[in-house]
Amino acid sequence: MLTVSEALAKVLSSFRTLEAESIRSESAVGRVLAEPIRATLDLPPFPNSSMDGYAVRAEDLRTASAHRPTTLTVIGDIPAGAAPAVSLERGTAARIMTGAHVPDGADSVVPIEATGADRSVVDAPPPTAIALHQPIESGAYIRPKGEDVRSGDTVMEAGRVLRVYDIGLLASFGLTRVNVIRRPRVAVISTGDELVEIDQPLRPGQIRDSNSYSLAALTHKYGGEPLMLGVARDRVEAVTAKLQAAADLHPDLIVSSAGVSVGAYDVVKAAVERDGALDFWKVRMRPGKPVAFGQYRGIPFFGLPGNPVSAIVSFEIFVRPVLLKLGGRRNLEKPAVDVKVSEPLHSDGRETYLRAVVRKVGNELAAHSAGGQGSNILSALVNANALVIIPEGVVEIPSGSMVKAWMLDGPEEVDWQ
Ligand code: AMP
Ligand code: MG
Repeated sequence: MLTVSEALAKVLSSFRTLEAESIRSESAVGRVLAEPIRATLDLPPFPNSSMDGYAVRAEDLRTASAHRPTTLTVIGDIPAGAAPAVSLERGTAARIMTGAHVPDGADSVVPIEATGADRSVVDAPPPTAIALHQPIESGAYIRPKGEDVRSGDTVMEAGRVLRVYDIGLLASFGLTRVNVIRRPRVAVISTGDELVEIDQPLRPGQIRDSNSYSLAALTHKYGGEPLMLGVARDRVEAVTAKLQAAADLHPDLIVSSAGVSVGAYDVVKAAVERDGALDFWKVRMRPGKPVAFGQYRGIPFFGLPGNPVSAIVSFEIFVRPVLLKLGGRRNLEKPAVDVKVSEPLHSDGRETYLRAVVRKVGNELAAHSAGGQGSNILSALVNANALVIIPEGVVEIPSGSMVKAWMLDGPEEVDWQ
């Protein structure tokens, strides 16, 4: 039987990043850039004032002082958004607003606060002259052309996971749309005679199909688009029909749950093998030993276990990195933290994922069990914030030992590179 890492290596080697699509820039947060972004202009595109004030020539103010102010003739008024109509000659200044184009000849801006001028008058025309009481350094309060970004520079590399902070820079280059890796489309199938759609009343012996919802939510979480196909009965014909319906949607992946263990009604394996093949159907892990992987009509297929916690944990282990890889992410490893276990932990030697609560205690993270570890105990997963990992081959972890844990609500959108 394959170990988790052997199975994962096999799985990941059969996927490649999907192709690109063009989407609106403001919706691109968390998506992976399919092409580098090059600056198509300087930012700022022109030298501009960082203050409201007067554009001047520093040289004119060299001797200005409190008792011998220098008087400059105000020859223009430059609001933001206008091309300056004047250029400064010796002894002149132009009123200028924040963000306005600094006129030729000017090399600095005297902020309005330093001129003694009355700032409260809206819409007032500039004075004909201003008296300035101190020298100014050349370059003061001017944001040079290209200070932020130079035209032609690569500002973002292909493969970058776009962040909220990146969107404004795209917009500065006029990019209303951006090419990103498209989202993987995932067909989600449940199997089981006991399952009913979640909006239906339960008859004796029935339970609601919670897995479709968990797996669709996980698909969303990891950047995919779920296509929910509902429940197939425990007959090869029924599962085959559902697989056909899934394949007809041309998904990038089919994920089913249940029906892959060794029960008399576990028909998923047989149905897949009718028109596909399985690479493996068992992995040395807990929870979730019956995990199948292969292809159906050429579409990659995962058969996850039916127990709700097993389905979710095996999705985290196998499907999550696949979705990330398809979606163009480079770092496929789920971020792990080092935690100190507050109680002895046991395993049968299979790689084991225990629902745990991790808390900060002093400078350490301490982990304790989140409750029942039965693979049906979904509430323990709801109460957990981490999965503590007992590595392959280890049967006992004494209290106080350090182990790795996956924080369940970790910074998935961050691609540490
Ligand atoms: P199986 O793998 O078919 O033997 O299912 C294992 C367990 O998971 C059984 O107790 C099933 O009732 C349960 N189960 C299977 N599918 C689902 C589902 N979609 N939602 C909730 N529980 C399920
Ligand atoms: Mg079943």
